[in-house]
Amino acid sequence: MRVVVDLAVCQGYAQCAFLAPDAFRLSGPEGLMYDPGPDDGQRAAILRAAAACPVQAISVEQPQPAAAGPAAAASAGGEGGHGR
Ligand code: SF4
Repeated sequence: MRVVVDLAVCQGYAQCAFLAPDAFRLSGPEGLMYDPGPDDGQRAAILRAAAACPVQAISVEQPQPAAAGPAAAASAGGEGGHGR
């Protein structure tokens, strides 16, 4: 997964550092350090941190699995195609 913090938006509230201390750390006033490529074991904590950020400065991007193209499309069609 990829994590991006918009440091122009971040206000240093430290909610993220509290909820995911392995991924986010405040060093000094409003100086946020973070791991842009944390491992998946931290996913839950990081998603919680992103949701808790008061100014929504944290973006989390999930990698697209290379083999998921046709299978994912077929699966999505099967699950989502019951409109009528
Ligand atoms: S919770 Fe949001 S505003 Fe606070 S330090 Fe983290 S990224 Fe910045």
